[in-house]
Amino acid sequence: MSLPIGIVGGGIGGLAAAIALHRAGRPVVVFEQARQFSRVGADINLTPNAVRALDGLGIGAELRRLGARPTHRVSRNYDTAEETSRLAMSGTAEERYGAPQLTLHRADLLATLEAAAPAGSVRLGKRLAGMSEAAEGVTLTFEDGTSEKVAAVVGADGIHSAVRRALFGAEAPRFTGVVAYRAVVPRERVAHLPDLDMFTKWWGPSPQSQIVTFPISAGREIFIFATTPQDSWRHESWTMPGSVEELRAEYAAFHPQARALLEACDAVLKTALYERDPMPAWGRGAVTLMGDACHPMLPFMAQGAGMAVEDAVVLARCVSEGGEDIVASLRRYEAARQPRTAQIQLGSRGNAWLRAGGNADWVYGYDSWVVPLTPGQGT
Ligand code: FAD
Repeated sequence: MSLPIGIVGGGIGGLAAAIALHRAGRPVVVFEQARQFSRVGADINLTPNAVRALDGLGIGAELRRLGARPTHRVSRNYDTAEETSRLAMSGTAEERYGAPQLTLHRADLLATLEAAAPAGSVRLGKRLAGMSEAAEGVTLTFEDGTSEKVAAVVGADGIHSAVRRALFGAEAPRFTGVVAYRAVVPRERVAHLPDLDMFTKWWGPSPQSQIVTFPISAGREIFIFATTPQDSWRHESWTMPGSVEELRAEYAAFHPQARALLEACDAVLKTALYERDPMPAWGRGAVTLMGDACHPMLPFMAQGAGMAVEDAVVLARCVSEGGEDIVASLRRYEAARQPRTAQIQLGSRGNAWLRAGGNADWVYGYDSWVVPLTPGQGT
């Protein structure tokens, strides 16, 4: 039997790649450092391009059951509440792009991907320590002292990727000087407020200061995602608590409708935001990268996970079409994906997406299942 493709990292991108490659007829193994999957994080906002990629993995119905469908995507000025842009989502997005926007708990997305991963394909407690490539495959070594031989390696191991380091050397991601607060409020506590079923972005006085709110958990909870420049806090964590008082003070100048949601919070999580510049090359030989391992970005366009699942689909299509020539398939995948992800990385850094209208089609209308597999097409 042929060697499997080894995927390092069992996050959103790695699990999506495992499902996509398996559906394309390739054996896969996922090596995940965590000893068990846990329910961390809070929200995930999946735009229509991401949902369509996930639909093709066979999990769209379950995600629709678990998530909420914001009716609109609205931008407002932080203090006057003046509406500066409005995009109809839900049914309108489904008609236009073939899929709606879905907002859900990040843990629900991960659990759905885990359940759909090929049986027995995920090995937990496998933290990559090193790798060496030979003519007949790549040997991965893990911190527990074990090793595995695979036909090719997909580094899906996030912003601090060990695969990236092995390929291109150590280089720390850049602290952006911005922190993010995340909080969840039960809907009944704020039921008197308007627009709870919309995705609303309140654009603040400085470019990285904003509050975003939208429904999750099939509408039973409202999620708050707020960012602000803050150079003194550099901890990167999905689980570290922040201070609710600090959150309220930070956004004291915002409109009462936005502040009312902050007043309703019992707890908040806080993380520093990191990113990298677009990488010109993602791989070498039978090794490639995907997701945050090669294109970590600021969350201002809500595309990080979306780009990871698009990568997974395009990778599987290239491997499927490439037959035995896995190295050529990986280079084709990289060439097809690099221009789009670089454009979105830089757009996320600029943080002006849909602030005052604009056409969302180039992002939301991308269909990873049919886009031409040629460099730069469909971006
Ligand atoms: P990760 O999710 O980081 O997964 C990497 C996996 O690799 C992890 O399971 C990790 O344990 C494992 N791993 C790491 N090192 C090793 C190793 N040495 N050996 C083995 N395993 C290893 N994106 C959106 O699309 N929509 C949003 O609304 C959104 N909101 C965001 C909000 C915030 C605050 C942040 C920080 C990001 C947000 N993103 C969003 C971006 C999104 O979370 C990421 O782009 C996405 O998680 C990337 O997936 P990934 O699988 O590439 O990496």
